[in-house]
Amino acid sequence: MRPGTPDIIKCPSCGAYQKRGTIQSGNTFGAEFYSDGSMVAPMLPELPDFTKCPECSVFYKIDAQTILSGNASMGFARLLLGDFENTADYLDALRKIPFVERLSFDDYIQVINIGLFNGDDNDILALRILFWRASNERIRKGRNQNYPIGEDIEKIVYEENCRKILMLMQENSYIEKSLMRDDYYYSLKGLPDISLLEKHSKLLERIMQPKKFEQYFSTILSALKMANSRGDEKPLLDVLKEMTPKAVKESRDENCLLCAELCRNIGEFDKCKSLLEEIEQTDKYADYISSITFACDERNSNTISITRNEPKG
Ligand SMILES: [Zn+2]
Repeated sequence: MRPGTPDIIKCPSCGAYQKRGTIQSGNTFGAEFYSDGSMVAPMLPELPDFTKCPECSVFYKIDAQTILSGNASMGFARLLLGDFENTADYLDALRKIPFVERLSFDDYIQVINIGLFNGDDNDILALRILFWRASNERIRKGRNQNYPIGEDIEKIVYEENCRKILMLMQENSYIEKSLMRDDYYYSLKGLPDISLLEKHSKLLERIMQPKKFEQYFSTILSALKMANSRGDEKPLLDVLKEMTPKAVKESRDENCLLCAELCRNIGEFDKCKSLLEEIEQTDKYADYISSITFACDERNSNTISITRNEPKG
């Protein structure tokens, strides 16, 4: 693994600086894969998207708002940190800034209880999935840490979290409401609103019954084409342009796999198997599908290790 220049992050509450490492190149050599989609890769460490400020203990998201300098703007980072006479002083100041930490199991419980990030459905879903994986990791490691909330309650919290994720991912009415709430069709009559398009593309990636939403999807694609033909080039648009039906299909398959695994974790084995049958690109996920199906037959609800025949670099 080759690390890059770290990003400098600013706590939105107290303004303290933290930094997050970047990876110039990495690979999945020696990586372990698990049925919940998590990967432990020594050569490709996971960079946190949510963190807790070490100064003021506020939880926050690491995004365009909190990242002050990207990998490419080392000069800007230097300006931010102060007036340095030489590079050695700047590097010393940079070295003293603490790295952002991944949220701990206890942190997730706190974040989810406090109901932070309530404004953004995608953030809530992302945090709940991270919490699910952190819980699985804890169970996998034999819960060798102290029980923050007691074993019985932990099980209830775990299952409730699995159900909430399933609800967020599967409930088409939720998606439908979101689409309608934003008065999507109305916005398409005028100039397509790029931020809305991005949001709705993300929502469509999550849906489990693609047929029902085919019309929405084609509308989004034609709106994008329209925006492109007008020459409204924006970085965001570049991202969206890459969003072909194939990408959406892949994303749906991944979601299907994730939902199947969540169902297995809460003991709904039949539902798990029927979701696995909905996956279209079965070759791509063959290792996962066969291991999870086997676990279902064994009535095993725990996260399992997946042996991948063709790990991707
Ligand atoms: Zn802070």
